[in-house]
Amino acid sequence: MAQATRRLFSAVLVGLGILGAGLAPVSAEDAKLPVVASFSILGDFVSRVGGDRVAVTTLVGPNGDAHVYEPTPADARSVAGAKLVIVNGLGFEGWLKKLAKASGTRAPIVEATKGIQPREMAEEPDEHEKGHGKGGHDHHDHGAADPHAWQSVGNVKTYVANIRDALVAADPAGKAVYEANAASYTAEIEALEAEVKAAVAKIPADKRRVITNHDAFGYFAAAYGITFLAPQGMSTEGEATPKAVAKLIRQIKAEKITAVFIENMSDERLVKRIAQETGVTPGGTLYADALSAKGGPAPTYVDMVRHNVSALTKAMAGM
Ligand code: ZN
Repeated sequence: MAQATRRLFSAVLVGLGILGAGLAPVSAEDAKLPVVASFSILGDFVSRVGGDRVAVTTLVGPNGDAHVYEPTPADARSVAGAKLVIVNGLGFEGWLKKLAKASGTRAPIVEATKGIQPREMAEEPDEHEKGHGKGGHDHHDHGAADPHAWQSVGNVKTYVANIRDALVAADPAGKAVYEANAASYTAEIEALEAEVKAAVAKIPADKRRVITNHDAFGYFAAAYGITFLAPQGMSTEGEATPKAVAKLIRQIKAEKITAVFIENMSDERLVKRIAQETGVTPGGTLYADALSAKGGPAPTYVDMVRHNVSALTKAMAGM
């Protein structure tokens, strides 16, 4: 197109109001801020704070296990095209650094747990087995930070504040929107935490013992006064030793523990075996590190917490 023609063409478009300043862009989807979140729970937080201004891509999807994730070429493309990458941090996404480097992204990578006091991973069921396992998973070794900070509902307020600040930095024009969304979601989270506390308060203290197949509930346990016993250790990568499993079975029988659970992204055989050998009926599925698919019992974080608390309190009460 000759320059004169192009100028004329532009003038016509402006005249029609298509290129005028402050008007809606041609495609609303194109104008959204592309943000990558590392896993489904975080993706939900980012969607809530970002609202209509952001297009969120989640790398580890519903029912996925972020501990042992292997990024795909599509993930590298998403990260390359992102203006902002939000991760949990605390060693949760061991594969992220390599992915970011390979993608060549220049987007800032923000840790949503920044400012949260990390808990240490719970002790192994049998300390003496330490060092005889496969090893090599640095971020899950004893004494390492426990990454599952989202399981304390109160911590989500920090996640939300960090996500809000990161979005404002990446898209200053959306500041008022991000602040309003963050404030309303924070109010929802505060109400949710009050709900959790009220539900747990109805369970007698000596009944608050739960078996799960990986140690994802340390923050939840500390926040709400429940003891979780896991035969597997912190990560889904570790394998429970026969000795640890036998010890746990003895404990379930001796202490008459009635709450035994399977997690959505884990191998359920171990918990099924424990349930079989103790005669305890498994209390269903707990959502630990991932949401369910849409239409499942935990498609959002708020749904996930409500589902977990309802299942836990029923099982602890022996119902
Ligand atoms: Zn986990």
